[in-house]
Amino acid sequence: MKTSDTIAGYDFHCHVDLQKNAPAYIAECETRRVFTLAVTTTPKAWPQNKKLMNGSRYVRPAIGLHPELAGDRYRELDLVKLCMKETSFVGEVGLDGSPEHMASFEVQRRVYGAILDEAQTLGGKVITTHSRRAATEVIDLIKARTTPDRVLNILHWFSGSKGELIAGIATGCMFSINPGMVRSKSGRELVGAIPIDRLLTETDSPFGIWEDRPARAEDVMGLVAAIAEIRGTGAARVADAVRENAQRVFGFAR
Ligand SMILES: [Zn+2]
Repeated sequence: MKTSDTIAGYDFHCHVDLQKNAPAYIAECETRRVFTLAVTTTPKAWPQNKKLMNGSRYVRPAIGLHPELAGDRYRELDLVKLCMKETSFVGEVGLDGSPEHMASFEVQRRVYGAILDEAQTLGGKVITTHSRRAATEVIDLIKARTTPDRVLNILHWFSGSKGELIAGIATGCMFSINPGMVRSKSGRELVGAIPIDRLLTETDSPFGIWEDRPARAEDVMGLVAAIAEIRGTGAARVADAVRENAQRVFGFAR
């Protein structure tokens, strides 16, 4: 990132294209100087997102195929792989083991596994990953299909167990913390246990809720304060760590 010295906050998982007014949301990221990784849920949205974010200093699009859509849209896998040649950033991808998505779980595994394989082949890829009720399966696939020198995996809105957290850390994953995690008891426990050199922040807007409304770019600053409070440390220490960790992510992406 050319603008890293001017960045005021970091949002490593945001659905910019699902905002009510995407151009206005991007303008807010620019004004607030919040680096925002704009995930896509289907590669069909990729050309439009690229166009939308073209010229933005702070918003970068990522190419993805959401696990909740993989059952219906697995035919778009080749398109994802093609678009992956154009960007270092991949997401939203992963697995969802919730009861309503269990029917497509095997398809999800095939799609996500193939995306990991492609990322490993291409190298320099940063992936923001969904792992609801499937943390063990996600971490096992990451371990089997990628190596930390070629793929940097960020587990977004992680909601696994402590044991799964330890497995994710051992596999080299980073973790982007969102507003939901600093509210729930289990989320707060995880936020307190993640090594500081693996911490990032995200909004997951418009799904992430901050103060009873969809989270906005500037809320990542409030999130840093909430993380610091949970960890019993100063907000400046967390802000510095997130900045350093983000620099590592940017250095990895190519
Ligand atoms: Zn998401």
